[in-house]
Amino acid sequence: MKSWEKHIKLFIPGPVEVYPDILKEMSRPVIGHRSSAYQDLHADTVAKLKKILFTQNDAFLSTSSATGVWEACARNCIGEKALACVNGAFSESWYKVALANGKEADKIEVPLGKAIKPEMIDEKLATGEYDSLLFVHNETSTGVANPLYKVAEVMKKYPDVIFMVDAVSSMAGMKIEVDKLGIDVCLASVQKAFAIPPGLAVFTVSKKAYERAEKIKNRGYYFDFFVFKKYAEKNQTPSTPAIPQIYGLNTQLDKMLKEGMENRFERHKQMAEFTRKWALGRGFQLFPEKGYESNTLTSVSNNKGIFIADLIKKLENKGMTISNGYKEMQEKNFRIAHMGDMKIEDIKGLLEAIDEILGG
Ligand SMILES: *Cc1c(COP(=O)(O)O)cnc(C)c1O
Repeated sequence: MKSWEKHIKLFIPGPVEVYPDILKEMSRPVIGHRSSAYQDLHADTVAKLKKILFTQNDAFLSTSSATGVWEACARNCIGEKALACVNGAFSESWYKVALANGKEADKIEVPLGKAIKPEMIDEKLATGEYDSLLFVHNETSTGVANPLYKVAEVMKKYPDVIFMVDAVSSMAGMKIEVDKLGIDVCLASVQKAFAIPPGLAVFTVSKKAYERAEKIKNRGYYFDFFVFKKYAEKNQTPSTPAIPQIYGLNTQLDKMLKEGMENRFERHKQMAEFTRKWALGRGFQLFPEKGYESNTLTSVSNNKGIFIADLIKKLENKGMTISNGYKEMQEKNFRIAHMGDMKIEDIKGLLEAIDEILGG
């Protein structure tokens, strides 16, 4: 058997475990991307996506990972200078992507494990130096959920600043009411809380974001909001999309609406609470600052000095896996994802396996 043929159940924060019903859906025959069948699929998928994001804004399907949409944000929405909120590897990367696209950006930076506070953003934006904000909701590298709802309150004071939110590991697992929060661009890829194989990203664009983009030259082509919009008006994408992922997304959105979004968010919260309680009960500490722990993944501090790489190896022998700390945080903490289609029973199964390994 080839190494990739073995099924190891994923409890890593992306890509996450994909259930057989979605995999089956993705194996439907391919349709032409300019066919009316595709237009039906596209329209239906986008309408449901807007529902789960509580928005009337345009929603787009991008055949790229979320990183592509980071680039879209830089190219379409950063005019003079952006403010990036950095508290981990993903938020740092987004800042660098802005610079790599020739844009100016400053950052607010707090230590790993800490959250970005609304006052910090308020203080910086009050200088009037910034026309856009890059804000990562759920910093997957540290397990910190930044206070999106409180930050959105502050953003109401700055109507000229484009509010861009990376919700890659929170969208569809934690509540994000795009319109109520006044988010101008909200983005995610589908291999996290949507529990679909990688290859597709989704994002919303507000009227304000279009107004900004209109004034910006050199938006490129692949990620130009207006190119997306032109094709979306015909329920199409500018180039050939990842049709299997869109089949998967369509079905996953049906499942979400059937479960009920509030129930879905509550399920994620319960899995998170269970995992945190387990960690604390075993004498571990939680890595995130108290009160800012994510509901889609738990980052556990290795205060007990266990050999994390060895734990992961033993777990893989049992057919499941978790993540070590991100880059420089290797062996300092480990991360357990509880998002997507996971249920509390799955988490219990994983934690029992970890107990067996650590206990024996
Ligand atoms: C995974 C992740 C990304 C990168 O997403 P890709 O789809 O791999 O480009 C960006 N931001 C956050 C918060 C993430 O968790």
